[in-house]
Formats: sequence, structure tokens, C-alpha cells
Amino acid sequence: MLDYIIVGLGLSGIAISQRLEERNKKFVVFEDNSQKSSLVAGGLFNPVILKRFTLAWNANKQVEIALPFYREMETKLQAKIVYPLEIYRKFFSAEEQNNWFEAADKPILAEYLDTKLVKEINPNISSEFSFGRVRQTGVIDTDVLIKEYRNYLKNKDEIQFKSFGYNALQINNDSVSYNGISARQIIFCEGFGMLHNPFFNYLPLRGNKGEYITIYSEELRLKEIVKSSVFIIPLGNDLYKVGATYNSRELDPQPSETAREDLENKIKKLVTCKFEIVDQSAGIRPASKDRKPMLGRHPEYKNLYCCNGFGSRGVLISPMVSEQLINFIENDIQLPQEIDLQRFNKKHYEA
Ligand SMILES: Cc1cc2nc3c(=O)[nH]c(=O)nc-3n(C[C@H](O)[C@H](O)[C@H](O)COP(=O)(O)OP(=O)(O)OC[C@H]3O[C@@H](n4cnc5c(N)ncnc54)[C@H](O)[C@@H]3O)c2cc1C
Repeated sequence: MLDYIIVGLGLSGIAISQRLEERNKKFVVFEDNSQKSSLVAGGLFNPVILKRFTLAWNANKQVEIALPFYREMETKLQAKIVYPLEIYRKFFSAEEQNNWFEAADKPILAEYLDTKLVKEINPNISSEFSFGRVRQTGVIDTDVLIKEYRNYLKNKDEIQFKSFGYNALQINNDSVSYNGISARQIIFCEGFGMLHNPFFNYLPLRGNKGEYITIYSEELRLKEIVKSSVFIIPLGNDLYKVGATYNSRELDPQPSETAREDLENKIKKLVTCKFEIVDQSAGIRPASKDRKPMLGRHPEYKNLYCCNGFGSRGVLISPMVSEQLINFIENDIQLPQEIDLQRFNKKHYEA
């Protein structure tokens, strides 16, 4: 008998698989390519909310856990995944500059926000009110991480590229069985796909569609990340990701003309040099009603778990909460209330 079945191999499923490997647990993953959030993500790790200059929820703790986690992945997969890059936040007014200085004065933000403003970062991107530099930030190449991790599991015969059919799941007292596979427990990591999961779709999952365009520009020659009305993220070879959009009303998976126009208009206002749009991608962020992850044990079936609700911050959140979930299952260490899906138990019994 296996220890676990895992459904979904985005950032959540990868972090869970990794935590199980660390404990020598036996598992199999199902993955059907139905969701793309982790694949298309900008991959930014950035502890600071750059709209208000506040620290994101638990972000300093998350950074401490996430960076060693991804460095270990690099060694394990023999692939480059971590790209430390500073973010330059363009200011639009003197008031914004003042807010930045006020924030940088707070001990919790001081290590991230540089108080020396930068006048110029690139001849093609100007800023009347200068730029603020954010430290300890960068990009995780989620595309490489996912592809390499899939290959890694494939070589060990630990992944099936198939859709998990919920109707075929049999729940027993101390185990679950699915199409001839038995395991002690199952963890669902389907991102926005959880909508189709009859066991967990009572949870208040809120989809938010995000889109990026990729531009090609020989002239731009930008080495760092810029945050203005959009992010510009250098990818190498004169390519840059520009985005992302946020849309909670249209939740179809296709890239849209509206998002493309919106991003094109924004980047035209931001850079003065020529560029060409060469690609566009879309995904649905799996967010929760209270903007916190939702993980833990099903209120009725003790062998069913879920790990979801990472919203727009899966890169930093997943290494930390995956450890907390496996500690809960394996060692009975309680989950913090604010992420425990028990906070929505009432919704389950009402459903
Ligand atoms: C445009 C965009 C930009 C983003 N940028 C960033 C960023 O810069 N930094 C950051 O931290 N976060 C970013 N995010 C958010 C981040 O992508 C998410 O927080 C994270 O990827 C969620 O991971 P997940 O594994 O929960 O879900 P997903 O990535 O959706 O993964 C779920 C997986 O489960 C599979 N699946 C679902 N149902 C089934 C089934 N029945 N059977 C088999 N497999 C199934 C899907 O195919 C998928 O691979 C961005 C998101 C978008 C859309």
C-alpha cells in the first residue's frame, strides 16, 4: 500500500511531494494539465506588497523557508531555477516617496526597502520621482521547475499523466482506493480545479484570471525587475514578461484580446524603445475568500486532505505550508487556525 495519492502537480503538489520524499513516504501523483497557474506564473518572490509598502502575510518566515527549498530543488533536479533579481518600484509622486521612507523605517521592512532612491535605472524607462529598490527578491523559473519535477517523478514511476476521476475514489476506514491503487491518504492540490472536487468544493475558492504578454526588445537591455503599473521581468535573450492582469469575473483559461491590449497600452507608456509582442499566457489563480491558504483534513473523511488557496503568492507560500500540512498529518502538530480549512467547516455542514 502507498502512503499517499496526490492530485495535481503545480506549486502545491510539488511542495507536498517534496515534503513526502524528505520523509521517505511512498506516493503517486495524478496530473492532467487542466490548470496552468503555476506554469504561467511570473515566479516572483517578493515579501513586500508594492501597492501599499507593507509586508505580505507571514512573508519574512516564508522567505526563510522558500529560498533554501528552491536551492535544494536546483541540486536535486540539476537545473537552474532560482534567479535573485532586485525589484525597482517606480514612484508616481512625492507622497509615494514619503510612504516608502515611512515603511522603510519599520524594523520589519527595513531589510527589504532601500532608503537610497535611484534616479535612473535604464535609458528607456524614466521616472520623475525616482525608483525605490526592493532587496531579497527574485524569480523562480516555475516552468523549468514543473517540467523537471515531472520528469523526475516520471523516471521513478511516481506520476500518472491522467485526470483524477473523483467518482472512482473509494473511501475506507484507514485507507483510500482508486482504480486499483491503495493509499493511506490522499491530498488534493488541484488549484482552481478544486471547483470540480465534490469533497472540497464547499470551500470558498475564488478564481482570479491572470495574464502576461512576453515582449522581445533588443534595445531595452534591462537587467532588473521593474514595477510600475505592471511588472517587467527579464527572461534573458532580450525577452521580458509584462503583467500581470487580475480578473475575477472572466474565468475561462484562454488568453484574451482585452488583456493583451491593456498590457500593451501600459508597457507603451512605460518604455520608450521599440518592442514586439511574441507570446501571451493565462492562468487562474486559486484564491480564497479571506486571502489565506486553505489546507487540512476533510471535516468528515479523515483520509482526505487539501492544500490550496495560494492566490497570487504560491511561490513563497507553498514551501512553508506544505511542511505544516505534512507535520499535521504525520506528527499531529496542529495547523495554525488562520490556514486550517476547519475555519470553513460550517459551510461544509450547510452544503
Ligand atoms: C498570470 C499569473 C501570474 C502569477 N505570478 C505569480 C508570481 O509572480 N509569484 C507567485 O508567487 N505567484 C504567482 N501567481 C500565482 C501562482 O501561480 C499560484 O499561487 C500557484 O501557482 C497555485 O499553485 P497550485 O499548485 O495551487 O495550483 P495550479 O498551479 O493550478 O496547479 C494545480 C494542478 O492540478 C492539476 N489538476 C487539477 N485537477 C486535476 C485532476 N482532476 N486530475 C489531475 N490533475 C489535476 C492541474 O493540471 C494543475 O497542474 C501567478 C498566477 C498567474 C495566473
